[in-house]
Formats: sequence, structure tokens, C-alpha cells
Amino acid sequence: MAESDDFFVRFWGVRGSIPCPGAATARYGGNTSCLEIRCADHILIFDSGMGIHEFGQVLEREAPVRADLFLSHTHYDHVWGWPHFAPALDRRNAFTIWAGHLMPDRSIEELMMGLLDDPLNPLNRKTLQASLSFRDFEIGHTLEPQPDVRIRTAPLNHPNGSSGYRIEYNGRSICYVTDTEHKPDRLDENVLALIEGADIVIYDSTYTDEEFPKHVTWGHST
Ligand SMILES: [Zn+2]
Repeated sequence: MAESDDFFVRFWGVRGSIPCPGAATARYGGNTSCLEIRCADHILIFDSGMGIHEFGQVLEREAPVRADLFLSHTHYDHVWGWPHFAPALDRRNAFTIWAGHLMPDRSIEELMMGLLDDPLNPLNRKTLQASLSFRDFEIGHTLEPQPDVRIRTAPLNHPNGSSGYRIEYNGRSICYVTDTEHKPDRLDENVLALIEGADIVIYDSTYTDEEFPKHVTWGHST
């Protein structure tokens, strides 16, 4: 569907902490984090919050699909759509799932497949018929899911760790910096370095360092 050099971004979920459907959130939707980025025909997905369910309905029509799914981190609002992602059930599809905040003690395979464990979910590992591969990386490394797609990563300031991404393709760049806490007294050099000169920056922060966890307002972050 894409022209040869298209660089495309679409939001499938923009809320933080919990899904929040209703009239007040109808304009941008009530689903939690999920972003679609296409570099020509190569499909990149960022986070598997509840927005990935609706994206999956659309993506299924494109099978066979090969795509890379990058997790910023694995708090519920960024992973709970994974068991509801229909293309993962389809043997024609293949996904590579990446995360940078879990090494060395945990792995993204353990975590994502653990979401399907009995009795949390009626699905199981055998139900996921798509070809799945899992890649843990060290935050700060540059990833190359395709020879012409470079993804720089940087650490964000968030409980349990989180990875910011800068996707570079065809001379353009899009940054995805979500769930990062402001430092009240200074700018975050890691974020500034990651986003310098970018064409698009997608940024989200719910609270400052000092506020967590005293004054968290769930569900209204965009
Ligand atoms: Zn989080």
C-alpha cells in the first residue's frame, strides 16, 4: 500500500494508565498506548496497549504481515493489548518483539508470553501461530530492524525503566518518548540528545519526579 519512500505515523492508543472510553475522550480515542509507523512497506509498532487491538483488526487484512513491535516498557498500559492482537494468532504472520529495559534479570519473551499464562487468559502459547522472535537490547544501542531503518534508543526517567526511540528513515526522523518524568530542576539531557533536530517528537509525561506516587491522576495522559 505504501509508496517506496513513505514515512508514516498513526496513533491507535494515546491514553496513559487505563483505557478511558466515553464522550470526553472520543476525539482521540480512549485506548492506551499504541503507535503505527511505516517506513515504506516495513511496519513498526510501538507499544501494545489496548490500541493494538483495533490496529490488529486492520492489519489482519494485510496478511501475510512481517512487523517489528518495540516496547517502551512493560507497565500494563503498554502491554495489555498483546493478548488481543489478532495477527499474532495467524500462522502467515511474523513478528519480532523488542525491549530494552529488562536485561539482565528478565526477558521480553518471558514477560509477553507470561501475559498468556493460564488462568490469566484463554489463549496460550500454542494459540499464537504467528512466527515470533524476541530481542532484548541494551538501552543506548542503535537498532537496525531493516538495513535502511535506524532506531536510536535512550533511557527515560520512569519507574522500572523505559526506552525512548528515534526512528530514522529516508533522511527523516520521528521520536517516541513516552512515560518520562520531568526533573523539576533541570532538563533531561538524554531526551534532548535523542530528539535533537527530529522532524516529529511524540512526548508524554504524566507527572514529575517529585509528584510520583502522591499526585498521580490516572487515565488522562495523552
Ligand atoms: Zn509506565
